[in-house]
Amino acid sequence: MKLVYTHENLTLVATVANHLRQNDIDVIIKNQYAAGGAGQLAPIETWPEIWVVDDRDCLRANQLVEELNKDSNKPQWQCQNCNEMNDATFDYCWRCQHDSHQ
Ligand SMILES: [Zn+2]
Repeated sequence: MKLVYTHENLTLVATVANHLRQNDIDVIIKNQYAAGGAGQLAPIETWPEIWVVDDRDCLRANQLVEELNKDSNKPQWQCQNCNEMNDATFDYCWRCQHDSHQ
């Protein structure tokens, strides 16, 4: 298994993981629930991670992640509802689920 992506924003990590799965790459997310548990140590340092199960998929997975990151270099948009800044890859506000096109 190989680590291909990690980010503090679980929604973004889940978006990347879904994209990889749609391209027939088997991935698992580690530390998915690390930020939520009471009494856990240093949750900030434990970001969710995407691991590719089959090492042979690793190169392609990296390319797909890179493509997504290119998308995220597009300008961010600001949520009309809660004023949160969202990456261009999101159609909905990651905080309040508000539709970006409204
Ligand atoms: Zn919002």
